[in-house]
Amino acid sequence: MEFEYIFEEVKVNRGNAPKFRLNGEEIDIWSKEFADFHSKSITDYVRENLIRYEYLKKDPFHEIVGKSKEKELVKTALMSGSNILFKGKKGYGKTTFSKSILKLLPEKLLAIKGCKIHDDPTQPVCFSCKKKVLEENVVDLVFIPRKWIRIPGDPMMTTRQLIGGISIQKIREGYDLDHPEVFTPGRVLKAHRGIAYFDELGSIPSALQTLLHELFEEKQVTTPEGDIVPMRIDALIIASTNPANYKGVSDIKEPLLDRMEQIDIGAPETIEEEIEIGLKNMSLKEGARIPVWHLKILANAVRCMRSKNCRFANRIEVEPSCRATIKLFDHIRASATRKGHEAVMLSDYGENFEIVKLALRSRFEIDYDAEISKDEIVEGVVNDSIDNVCSSIYASIPRDVFGELIERIAEIKVLNAYKANGISEFAASICSHSSEIKSAIEIILESIARCSGLVERIGDGIYAYKAYDR
Ligand SMILES: [Zn+2]
Repeated sequence: MEFEYIFEEVKVNRGNAPKFRLNGEEIDIWSKEFADFHSKSITDYVRENLIRYEYLKKDPFHEIVGKSKEKELVKTALMSGSNILFKGKKGYGKTTFSKSILKLLPEKLLAIKGCKIHDDPTQPVCFSCKKKVLEENVVDLVFIPRKWIRIPGDPMMTTRQLIGGISIQKIREGYDLDHPEVFTPGRVLKAHRGIAYFDELGSIPSALQTLLHELFEEKQVTTPEGDIVPMRIDALIIASTNPANYKGVSDIKEPLLDRMEQIDIGAPETIEEEIEIGLKNMSLKEGARIPVWHLKILANAVRCMRSKNCRFANRIEVEPSCRATIKLFDHIRASATRKGHEAVMLSDYGENFEIVKLALRSRFEIDYDAEISKDEIVEGVVNDSIDNVCSSIYASIPRDVFGELIERIAEIKVLNAYKANGISEFAASICSHSSEIKSAIEIILESIARCSGLVERIGDGIYAYKAYDR
């Protein structure tokens, strides 16, 4: 039969190839100019690029903050041609990591023009391209950019959505090879010659996982009519799984797990990394400054909620991720900017920390019978965090400076941080920009209030000497 080659693997070389054309001009795809853009597997490209990065002593994943151990594991796994399974809670950068691997693929590749899965001209996979390279005199090519295809772990996903529609029966009935009834690629096939990112692999129905295994391991698919069709899909498989997602979700099937290296992705290890991630990803790039003491208070509050040492630890079921930190920075800056503050003040946290609650409330979960509300937990955690940062500021005030400061405060009786009167010299020393001075004066007064009780906060940015009889 005419379509016998459909079941064959088709490979062409210089000797038996048709003429190839790019932008209407005939090209020699084996010439130096084009040889790098076909015939190689994705793994080969990734390997070559990794070696290039190593040679240049450059980090291919420089946009990812910290995570040096994980980066090494990813590089080693990719180098040895493995697929990767990122395991970790949401919001710690599994998707970002998988996207950053994309740059190890070539910027462009040569593909057969019009192909639904961007076939390699020398080893096409789809029926219509196999026919083209074997039967036609001239085959048109195009350059395609790098591909990163996200495949969401949907329990309702169908075979058609995941693998696609493939029917030999329709060819037998005389349908054209390009007819959608004959071949319509699903998400995985569309990732051919790119990265297939399975977001929550475990949520894909287990029957479909079996099909995936057949596709990747045996390089074939079984059509709904029972025909076994060779499909050498070449894609780098990156998957993610969330250990918290066990309820009502199928797990990752053993044979698939066996083909992947598991790399754990956790919360940032240090508060500095947490702050860097927050600043890097916030959407409000301009506006009021967030001085380092406020960055610390906010990041610290989020980190505390993840820690076993948090006094609410046994109440918190789902911890806030880096997205909480990012959003918190955004809201605090927004709040300060709206009020016309040059730098964040404590009042920007809102009455009873309403602004902080806005960022955190939907980003953590507590157990059902917790006797304490989410809002109370946020209030407690933020207060603890202010205490923490204030005590280190308090401890950093040199003794003689402290003496002068208290004398000065006793003299003025009421200090207004917004007016920056009196104590700006030490305050200036902790600022990284002159616009932070009012915020610095306030946090110093707050530190003295919290740690010595010699002053007390009586209004927005206003502190009174305690001995002073109002
Ligand atoms: Zn094709």
